[in-house]
Amino acid sequence: MTNARFRPPSEANSLILQVDQGCPYNRCTFCGMYRDIPYERLSVEQAEELVVQASRRHADAQRIFLADGDVMRRPFTELQQILTAINAHYPHLARVSLYANGSSIADKTEDQLRTLRSLKLHTLYMGMESGDEEVLKACRKGENAPQMVDAGIKAEAAGLRMSVMILLGLGGAALSKAHAANSAAALNRMQPRFLSTLRVVPVPGTELYEDTMAGRFTPLTEYEIVEELYNLISALDLNSTVFRANHSSNVVPIKARFPRDKTQALSTLQTLLASDTLDKHSPGHLPMWL
Ligand code: SF4
Repeated sequence: MTNARFRPPSEANSLILQVDQGCPYNRCTFCGMYRDIPYERLSVEQAEELVVQASRRHADAQRIFLADGDVMRRPFTELQQILTAINAHYPHLARVSLYANGSSIADKTEDQLRTLRSLKLHTLYMGMESGDEEVLKACRKGENAPQMVDAGIKAEAAGLRMSVMILLGLGGAALSKAHAANSAAALNRMQPRFLSTLRVVPVPGTELYEDTMAGRFTPLTEYEIVEELYNLISALDLNSTVFRANHSSNVVPIKARFPRDKTQALSTLQTLLASDTLDKHSPGHLPMWL
């Protein structure tokens, strides 16, 4: 297996155990993360061996992230066996986290999720991308919003923490308002513990990049991206969520805790929108890689 290339920023200090390679779905039009990597997963025995080997060098690990994309796709029994091995070999273990799509959570029962939680599975990182069906279809997410919301509610009810990502600009200009409004509605229903926004970047090798080059997709301008984030936050009604928009793709870094900091976050964005410093004709600076 290749070395895991992606993990959420908040897992920067975690020990990464790559039990899978690539993404079992690998069809989202915007995603270049695993484009050239065939999906493979270690057998349970191989994964257990990996756990043992890594524990010889990192026996004191407290946080572990299981890579790559959508490890939650594995059947419950495999996850249970891998987590049991991890618990046996890391005496200081506090938490294990992984990427999880809605359908991968949905195919576990609430009891199974509780069992995984008891084995220190902690945070599930879900790329919801949007709560708008048209946007989800256009980017070929392969999931619908109600399914992802219900999966998140079920996971949180089982004691797991949901960390949800929304991709700003994914609907282009035409769907920007619907993308913001319906994403907020979905998040309000799910009430995830963590929420982050990233800005969509057309990455070479993806359909979104080809569509952008061919003029079939027009990325939002820098101004429109900030406006979309403003519309999203305006419509949020979250009871207790840590919010981060500090990925390099964001125009302005924001860290907030909702509902406490909502007014302050909106005021920051409003000031920026009124400042005349944002590019109204192009996306402005974009990172090379999302
Ligand atoms: S966004 Fe997630 S589900 Fe979609 S292809 Fe990329 S890793 Fe797979």
